[in-house]
Amino acid sequence: MTHQSYTFQTQLLHNQHKFDKETGGVSVPIQLASTFHQPDFDQFGKYDYSRSGNPTREALEEMISQLEGGVKGFAFSSGIAAISTAFLLLSKGDHVLVTEDVYGGTYRMINTVLNRFGIEHTFVDMTDLDTVASNIQENTKVIYMETPSNPLLKVTDIQGVAKLAKANGCLTFLDNTFLTPALQRPLDLGVDLVLHSATKFLAGHSDVLAGLAVAKDEGLAQQLYGLQNAFGAVLGAHDSWLVLRGLKTLHVRLKQSSESATKIANYLNNHSKVDEVFYPGLSTHPGHSIQTRQAEGPGAVLSFSLRNEEAVRNFIQHVRIPVYAVSLGAVESILSYPAKMSHAAMPEAERKKRGISNGLLRLSVGLENVDELIKDFEQAFIHVPESSVIV
Ligand SMILES: *Cc1c(COP(=O)(O)O)cnc(C)c1O
Repeated sequence: MTHQSYTFQTQLLHNQHKFDKETGGVSVPIQLASTFHQPDFDQFGKYDYSRSGNPTREALEEMISQLEGGVKGFAFSSGIAAISTAFLLLSKGDHVLVTEDVYGGTYRMINTVLNRFGIEHTFVDMTDLDTVASNIQENTKVIYMETPSNPLLKVTDIQGVAKLAKANGCLTFLDNTFLTPALQRPLDLGVDLVLHSATKFLAGHSDVLAGLAVAKDEGLAQQLYGLQNAFGAVLGAHDSWLVLRGLKTLHVRLKQSSESATKIANYLNNHSKVDEVFYPGLSTHPGHSIQTRQAEGPGAVLSFSLRNEEAVRNFIQHVRIPVYAVSLGAVESILSYPAKMSHAAMPEAERKKRGISNGLLRLSVGLENVDELIKDFEQAFIHVPESSVIV
């Protein structure tokens, strides 16, 4: 049995990097060298300079490629570095269609950087295939998805969009940060390039910034390799090792956190002080059936809305267990306030248009005892006024 035929859960531990070929060490060695001695005057070895190739980074790149089912992986210094480098595949005069509730940092990059280089964009509701189709232009080169989206957990029909893209000669990129290949494998559904903030679930411990990309075919992989080396936003050896370490527990972390998220979503959904819960695991979520078809679970992130900013402030001031912070996908639960955190880069009018109200909170569920989390929320809700929705 080769490691590729193991289940995802087992592959995380038993793969080509299970032990070091030289020493038998059961952890990938951290190669800190920036340069490599060349034994021959004309023939250079596999490695020459660490920006172009580093064995520790390469181990991580091979791992993510295998887990996503692609041909080649690339590791970057952050998620946004991976995303920005991927957009460098575009040229002046090209157009990109982007999901409207895209990650705030991606929104900023597209709006304030890409536009200066003559790359046009249109933000669309990616959950509506007709809208996607009608916004494809002659010069559209990329359709950029994020599903479930941030922070409203909207679900995009990946195969539907990939089909439209193929029919119109566009590439598809997908930010798979929220689900990871443990729950969703976009390349199998027709996507060309998968992107990650590995800072989140893949590394999982709020202790490293990292980004990853995986290409589905050789041509795209070669172009991206050229850009990774040319732009130079590569991941360091130590940080590559931290992501490799985090990956080993990815399956068990996501399994536990998703289970807890489902329980918390149901609890919040029945709470009189909560206006609305956004979680693709709820059967009432508009994307529930697509999510069930294309992914192996709803993930560990949910959002919920309270009456207004004042209600949010009261809740945050009294809740004790989750950290109140930006970011997600960690061992500890993280509560964040999109209006002032992840989506602060978006003007209020744009946020409102996208349904990101001042009462919206995002919760990334960690590994705490779920009943204890619910108990904590219960005591915090005592300080929150009743919801505006009449039930
Ligand atoms: C955090 C995040 C990013 C950006 O990644 P960094 O590692 O913070 O640069 C991109 N997309 C999504 C969905 C994210 O959550």
